[in-house]
Amino acid sequence: MISPPRPNAYRDTWNGDLDAANAGQDVRVAGWVHRRRDHGGLIFIDLRDRSGLVQLVFHPETGGPAFALAERLRSEHVISAAGAVVRREEGNVNPNLATGEIEISVTSLDVLAESETPPFPIDEDTAVDETLRLRYRWLDLRRQGMLDAMLARTLVTRTMRRVLDERDFLELETPILTKSTPEGARDFLVPSRLSAGSWYALPQSPQLFKQLFMMAGYERYYQIARCFRDEDLRADRQPEFTQLDLEMGFVVEDDVIEVMEAVMSAVFEATAFEVPPAPWPRMSYAEAMSRFGVDRPDTRFGLEIRDVSEHLRGSDFKVFEGVLAGGGVVRALNAGARQLSRSELDGLNDVVRIHGAKAVAPIYASADGWAGNLAKFFGAEQIAAANGELEAGDGDLLLFVADAPEVAAASLGGLRLELARRFGLIPEGHAALWIVDFPMFEHDAEADRFVAIHHPFTAPSGDLEDPATLLSRAYDLVIDGVEVGGGSIRIHTPEVQQRVFELIGLDADEARERFGFLLEAMRYGAPPHGGIAMGLDRVVALICGLESIRDVMAFPKTATGADPLTGAPAPVESRQLRDLALRSLVEPTSPATPAT
Ligand code: ASP
Repeated sequence: MISPPRPNAYRDTWNGDLDAANAGQDVRVAGWVHRRRDHGGLIFIDLRDRSGLVQLVFHPETGGPAFALAERLRSEHVISAAGAVVRREEGNVNPNLATGEIEISVTSLDVLAESETPPFPIDEDTAVDETLRLRYRWLDLRRQGMLDAMLARTLVTRTMRRVLDERDFLELETPILTKSTPEGARDFLVPSRLSAGSWYALPQSPQLFKQLFMMAGYERYYQIARCFRDEDLRADRQPEFTQLDLEMGFVVEDDVIEVMEAVMSAVFEATAFEVPPAPWPRMSYAEAMSRFGVDRPDTRFGLEIRDVSEHLRGSDFKVFEGVLAGGGVVRALNAGARQLSRSELDGLNDVVRIHGAKAVAPIYASADGWAGNLAKFFGAEQIAAANGELEAGDGDLLLFVADAPEVAAASLGGLRLELARRFGLIPEGHAALWIVDFPMFEHDAEADRFVAIHHPFTAPSGDLEDPATLLSRAYDLVIDGVEVGGGSIRIHTPEVQQRVFELIGLDADEARERFGFLLEAMRYGAPPHGGIAMGLDRVVALICGLESIRDVMAFPKTATGADPLTGAPAPVESRQLRDLALRSLVEPTSPATPAT
C-alpha cells in the first residue's frame, strides 16, 4: 500500500487501491499503457502505475471523444483517465489481479506523452539480453522484476534505519573525495585541479572515518555508504556498491554481533526471509575450513569433509604417501550412495583443479571394504578406519584429495558445493552463522611480509611477537554460503597499530605518510571500539533469490565496468585534462555502447 496521492489534475487514486468497494465512484487514474486489447468493439487498457494495474474500458457509445483517442493508444503511452468504477461481470473477473473484480469505464482521457515502441516487452517476464536492459535501464526498471527488487531494497534499508534509529545510532556521512583507505583492493583516483599532480581516492569503505567518529565520542554511528573498489570485475562484483556501515565505542565482539543480529533479524522478518531466530551459531575459521573447506560454509547440508591422513598413513599407495611425507593431508567426503559414470568422475577433477589440486581419487565403499583397484594398496584396518571416519555404507562414493592442507580444503569445499548443486541436496530454508577467530595474517612468502586478512585496523588476539599464530578479533556473517558482511574490534592504541603496520611491511615513515592522522588520533584518547559492514546489494539479492547483485541495483555496470546507458567511462575534452595538468598516454577506449 502506498499512502494516497493528493488529488490533482492527473489522478485522485492509485490504480492498485481500487476494488469492489469503490464500485459506483468516479475516479481519475494515471500511468502507462501496459497492454491494450480490442474486443467486440470495446478497447481495454491495462493501466500501470507504481501501485499496480487497473483495467480501463472504452465504450464506442458512451466513451465519447475518449474512445477515439483510445484507438491511438500504444504500449507505454502516458495517460490520465477519468470514469466510473464498475464491477466486472462474473465471467470477466481476473483473480490474478488485485483490482481484477472491477474496471474503470472511461469517459475522459488525456494523452500526456507518447512512447516509441520499446526495444523489449515491459509487460512480460521474458529474458532480455543484459546489455540491452542496461542500455534502456529506465524501461527495464519499469518491469515488475526490477520494481520488486527496488521495493525489497527500500524495505531492507528502511528496516535497517528503523532498528538503528531505535537504538540511537547517529546517521553520519563521510567523505567521498578522500585519501586511500586500504581494504585490499585498488583505489579509484580523482585528480585534483587545485593541487595539480595530487589525487583524491574514492573510499573503499568509510573505515578510517568511522573509527575517527569513535575517537570523537560519537559512540554509535551508522551510514548506508557507497564504497568504491577498482577490481577486475570477476563474477559478481561491482566497482561501486553499498554497505550498511556501523561502528560502536566501548564494545566487545558480542555487542556488535548482537546489534547486527537485531538489524538483520528485523530485515529478514520484514521480507519474510526465513532464518532461524538469533542468536546465530558461531564457528571458528579453523573449524569452517576443516569441515567445509571454506570460510563461508553453506551449513544447510552435510557432505562434510573429514581428515583421513592418520588412518591411511603407511599404505602402499605412492600418491597419498608422497603427499603425507611432504606435510600434506589426505581428506575426503562421502558423496553418498550414487553411481557416477567414468566421465562424470573425471569431470570432478576439473572442479578440484580450480583450487589447485591435481585430481580426485574416487573409491566406492563396499560391504567388506572398498571396491575398485585402489583397495589393494591399503590394509583392511586402514580401510575400516577410513570408512568409520567417513561413515561409509555399502555403495557410498568416497572422494579423496591428497594435497597441502589449504588446497585439499578448498578442493573438497568446491567439490562439496558442486555435488550439492548437481544432486539437489540443498534444502529449502536458510542458515545464518558467524565465522570468528580468523587468523590475523596470511604470510606472503614471496615478499616475506604479512598481509592482514581482514584489514590492518583489526585488533589482533594473541602474542604480537608471534605474528604467524595471531588470531584477529574479526567476525563475518555468512548466510547460505554467502559472506554478507563482516567487521571487527579495532586496534585503539598507536603502539599496536604501529606494530601491525610494521608486520605488513609499512615502515614508520610510510605509515605516518599514509595513516598519520589515524595514529595521531590514537594518541588523543581513543576508546576501544569495533564495528561491522553488511553488503546491502548482496543481502537484497539473497532475499530476492537472485544470483546477480546487478539485478538489485538500479544502475549497475556491466562486467567490464561500463555503463551502456550513459556511455561511462568515456573520454573527456582535452581542455578538461589540461585544467588538471594531465595528458593521456593512450588513445581513449570506451568499452560501453554510448547512448545515442
Ligand atoms: N570496512 C570493512 C569492510 O568494508 C568492514 C568493517 O570492518 O567494518 O569490509
